[in-house]
Amino acid sequence: MKKKINLQFLIMSFTAILLTLVISAAVSYEVLKNEVMEELRTYTHILLETDVFETPETVTYDAKTDGLRITVVAKDGTVEYDSDVNAAEMENHEDRPEVEEAFSKGEGKAIRKSETLDQSMFYYATLLENGCVLRTAKKADNIWTILYSTFPMLLLLAIILATLGAVLSHLLTKSIVAPIEQMANDMDHLESVCVYKELRPFITTIQKQHEDIRKNADMRQEFTANVSHELKTPLTSISGYSELIESGMATDEDVTRFAGEIHQNANRLLTLINDIIRLSELDVSTEEIPYEQLDLYAIAEKCVDMLQVNAENHDVTIELTGKSAFVHANREMMNELLYNLCDNAIRYNKKGGTVNVSVEQREEQVILSVKDTGIGISKEHQERIFERFYRVDRSRSKLTGGTGLGLAIVKHIVAQHNARLELESEKDVGTQIRVIFLK
Ligand code: ADP
Repeated sequence: MKKKINLQFLIMSFTAILLTLVISAAVSYEVLKNEVMEELRTYTHILLETDVFETPETVTYDAKTDGLRITVVAKDGTVEYDSDVNAAEMENHEDRPEVEEAFSKGEGKAIRKSETLDQSMFYYATLLENGCVLRTAKKADNIWTILYSTFPMLLLLAIILATLGAVLSHLLTKSIVAPIEQMANDMDHLESVCVYKELRPFITTIQKQHEDIRKNADMRQEFTANVSHELKTPLTSISGYSELIESGMATDEDVTRFAGEIHQNANRLLTLINDIIRLSELDVSTEEIPYEQLDLYAIAEKCVDMLQVNAENHDVTIELTGKSAFVHANREMMNELLYNLCDNAIRYNKKGGTVNVSVEQREEQVILSVKDTGIGISKEHQERIFERFYRVDRSRSKLTGGTGLGLAIVKHIVAQHNARLELESEKDVGTQIRVIFLK
């Protein structure tokens, strides 16, 4: 970036220098041309006053000493007098532009290249009272000669200006880029560094991303610590019981009981690992998730059927109300969502309690509700139950095979659909979780 800005500044200043030189040379030449012509005019007018050239034969004035050439041309174009050359040897001058102009308008001007290319001939012609034309001419440098003669000066000037331009562009580039470099070096204090208001939105985005990355890293670290802890408990039990069996101290009865414990803990480990894998899949899933129009009521029906036996075992009645309602969703995720919500509503219920699952369509929304008459969740826990591994009552969760990840998965799934979650719960009365799908 620095290089690019610097280069652009350099190109800009060099172009400016070059343009200035060329334009000022052209303007100076124009001024010089006008001055030479004006000078010739003055000479000619002075000469006119003297009347000397009315009779050229009598002229004694030596124009050469003043760097001038004077010519008198008769009406028919024949040269009657010339200060440089013998007039008799000169060709007819009728067609010279300045002479032609003087005959027709009383005054004529012309500039022509002289025989040697490095100089130009300036002509001024005026009509005399006797009908002849008096022409004065003077040699002057042309633009190339002027440029050539002033070239060393111009070159020096250009070098000085270019060096100055290079130094200035370097300093300017540095001062433009400095705040950006400072920003890159110190991401934490972007507010105090930035001097460009155009960069504000960019900074806000970076800051947000920075914060998100940090939050994500913290979350991951916490999650890893929690996972290790959660895995450790069942593994410690398994290790303990198997060690007891190995030592041969356990009776046959104990062995059966220990094997049961080992089995239960191994199952727990499997569910935990399954949930962890599912969560990380949801977290980093890059593959296309297939979405389709699904009848949420039909999915709920299957889920309720599947959980019927489970509910009976908990002495809980589970029922489904509502009617067909379509949502644009992923089938597997919808199954998981319903399963997790219904499973919780059964597990955190009371004996003889009920779970009501309902699917209804309200204008542009489809509302899935899972309502139970269970133990409820007190206010202070309501905010946090969707966090990973958060449980209100650890032992009850574990006892019923909970992992503390079910609602975290639910939250993830809802976030991936055009939907939102609502929780209503009262301790000892019951809980209702609504998932509202927006069209
Ligand atoms: P778990 O596997 O422990 O059930 P969840 O993420 O599904 O984990 O739920 C987190 C916690 O929220 C549970 O441990 C429980 O304390 C509470 N909870 C979830 N659903 C209900 C419910 N329907 N009634 C009462 N408490 C609930």
